Amino acid sequence: MPDPLDLRSEHEPALELALAEAKAFLATLDDGLVRGRDADEVADAIGGSLPDDGDGALEALRELSAMRGAATLSPGPRFFHFVTGGATPAALGADWLASALDQNAFVWTSSPLGTRLEAVATNWLKELFRLPAEWSGILTTGATMANFVGLAAARRWYGERHGVDVEADGYAGLPPIPVFGGGYVHASAEKALAMLGVGTARIRRLEADEAGRLDIDALQEELERLDGRPAILLATAGEVNAGDFDAIERIAELAERFGAWLHVDGAFGLFARASESAAGLAAGIERADSVIADGHKWLNVPYECGFAFVREPSYQAGAFTAGAPYLTTEDRPAWGFLGPEMSRRARSFATWATLRAYGRNGYRAMIERHLALAQRVGEQVEAASELQLLAPVKLNVVCFRLHPPGLDDEVALDELNRRVGAAVIEDGRVYFGTTVYRGHVCFRPAIVNWLTTERDVDLIVETVRELAAVTA
Ligand SMILES: *Cc1c(COP(=O)(O)O)cnc(C)c1O
Repeated sequence: MPDPLDLRSEHEPALELALAEAKAFLATLDDGLVRGRDADEVADAIGGSLPDDGDGALEALRELSAMRGAATLSPGPRFFHFVTGGATPAALGADWLASALDQNAFVWTSSPLGTRLEAVATNWLKELFRLPAEWSGILTTGATMANFVGLAAARRWYGERHGVDVEADGYAGLPPIPVFGGGYVHASAEKALAMLGVGTARIRRLEADEAGRLDIDALQEELERLDGRPAILLATAGEVNAGDFDAIERIAELAERFGAWLHVDGAFGLFARASESAAGLAAGIERADSVIADGHKWLNVPYECGFAFVREPSYQAGAFTAGAPYLTTEDRPAWGFLGPEMSRRARSFATWATLRAYGRNGYRAMIERHLALAQRVGEQVEAASELQLLAPVKLNVVCFRLHPPGLDDEVALDELNRRVGAAVIEDGRVYFGTTVYRGHVCFRPAIVNWLTTERDVDLIVETVRELAAVTA
């Protein structure tokens, strides 16, 4: 009947076992199937009821290791789904230490280390993304919660514009919030608006084209009609189907002219600002009121990590301080009162360490390598007679479909692409899903992983062509 204290001597062997298991897993990343043949079977077999008596840490970790066949190689170089990256060695090592040191990045008294490191990490990120140093920032669990932070700040601003303290008094007495966005608005921003009580149905979708780019002229008309009343504008830097960007500079101009709050979701697109060649896509973001990005995407830190930045720090603090008597000062922020969680993992360890390890130039090199790899895949698609590129490759996502010569029936084409998409996932050599873009079912592999090279991306087109031939 082991109590953890009785088994305290397992502490070190448990870490050694974890190290051995981690090494074994990492050794499979380059050439293993992204999804093993028996992944479903292994996952489905996990179960049983809560044991009355445990068998100790080593046995538990051995059993956990035996489940590895159900893991996807999502930190590996051939996982092109969801625009998520892996974990650099610096980030992974630091993340292990975040667990071992188990710091609560809540306030200075809970951890000077966790508190200070988050301030430095968020400042470095502002430098990487060329955002003004005076903005506030915070690390979150991902882009969804980062959107939540930015939009909570916007909500507070909206209340203040009407003389209402939303955190204290709620929405009573406030008119519904006008929210404008295009078709690129990510589901997570909608989710954030739902959680904030703004309501997803408040989003007016103004789409300039079939892809969904925010319609600037329509936006201007809507803002003129509001006649000075405040509104929230949602712009997307890097949408998930084709990696495209809303016209952020022009949206920022309108936000400034009409006094609206501009929130930019740059979950992966914000990283364009770390590359000179791609920065133009994300121009104007420094004029927004709130901006977010993901860490577990292009920064290649382990889950969970996202970032939110807010131009006017008092809106972020006001949204989350919730009347608690804690002081936030510039160099000793009380992180537990600047975002949704109070007790918080020190996710700054991984972010700080990876930026320390590779620096601005290391990230620029990685991002530019990915941009070149995406161009390479785009060229391979264009060179293949049975493939069709559906959007120009602007960043790191390649949006394409099978379109064999002579097959023009859209229903049949959708069916074919869906079938081959399922076969790609099943096959496991490379990994990406299908989406619907401009009404067409298509593929959209995204290149985000620090390990990915030509040999990996060349498998994208090769696998699709091969599976199309065998499933035809
Ligand atoms: C991935 C993504 C999100 C959501 O990020 P999570 O980290 O999964 O919460 C939000 N917006 C965009 C544009 C994304 O690509």
